[in-house]
Amino acid sequence: VLLFWSVLSAAYIAYQWKDTFDPAVLSGRRVLVTGASKGIGEQIAYHYARFGSQIVITARTESALKKVAEKCLQLGSPKVWYIPADMSDLEDPNRVLRFALDKLGGLDYLVLNHIGSTFFQMWNGDVEHIRVLMQANFLSYAQMVSSGLPFLKQSNGSIIAVSSIAAKIPSPFTIPYTATKSAVNGFFGSLQHELSMQKVNVSITLCSLGLIDTETALSKVKGVIDTMSAYPASGAALEVIKGGATRQNEIFYPWYWQLVCAIRDWFPGYRDSVIQSSYKYNP
Ligand code: NDP
Repeated sequence: VLLFWSVLSAAYIAYQWKDTFDPAVLSGRRVLVTGASKGIGEQIAYHYARFGSQIVITARTESALKKVAEKCLQLGSPKVWYIPADMSDLEDPNRVLRFALDKLGGLDYLVLNHIGSTFFQMWNGDVEHIRVLMQANFLSYAQMVSSGLPFLKQSNGSIIAVSSIAAKIPSPFTIPYTATKSAVNGFFGSLQHELSMQKVNVSITLCSLGLIDTETALSKVKGVIDTMSAYPASGAALEVIKGGATRQNEIFYPWYWQLVCAIRDWFPGYRDSVIQSSYKYNP
């Protein structure tokens, strides 16, 4: 039965990964990308630029945004704007959205990718840090969806939420981060149902990413987890964009995480001991 189920899951995943992406659909589209000054968000901006989209990018560091915007223009984007903003601030998410609507004259893709900084270690009981991170990683997403949805309805547009495998398979050292990403998954999973039941033609793509080779991620796991390969940010960014453009409900990168998630509860004791033993930790 297990073998049959595995083969069936693998075949289903392979079928889903059939590439139906047509880059031409992104030409001239109006895109807002958050967390685009570095890492996966920067690569997302570059791919949209290559496909000819008009882009607004945001993050906190103005100098980095300026460089990313210049490169987007060189890569083929017809128009690019940037706006520095802090998503842990209560006002900034709506300020960014208003700026994007004003510059772009509407919105086709809302790409929510930013995360606030956090630690990679045992939780020290700091609830205030979780509260601040909830605003940056989750509540700001909800705020931007709330303000952006009427405009996405007009354009039959798309929301792309970048999340993590950590929200599907919790692991140690990431309690505040995992809590915020679980909130993201729950929010967008429920919203997918509600939009579908209301026959609203706005797609939501939830992106479940494994370890990606950004500076932030690699600097955290270095010396603690050596057994997991990190996948390229540019590849992750392209899959995120393809998932949004083909209006998929969820994408996994790398692909095998979909299979792992399908079988994750078969042997919970074994799963947990594999996760824990992959960490170098000596109390
Ligand atoms: P990075 O740390 O490389 O980039 C984070 C981006 O968010 C930067 O542009 C940063 O710019 C911005 N940012 C940070 N704090 C704030 C803030 N308070 N307000 C506004 N913007 C902010 O992250 P990654 O590229 O690694 O991750 C991108 C996404 O991918 C995240 O959603 C993450 O959860 C997800 N992911 C990443 C994985 C990985 O292994 N890398 C694995 C699984 C999921 P600035 O500092 O200038 O503000």
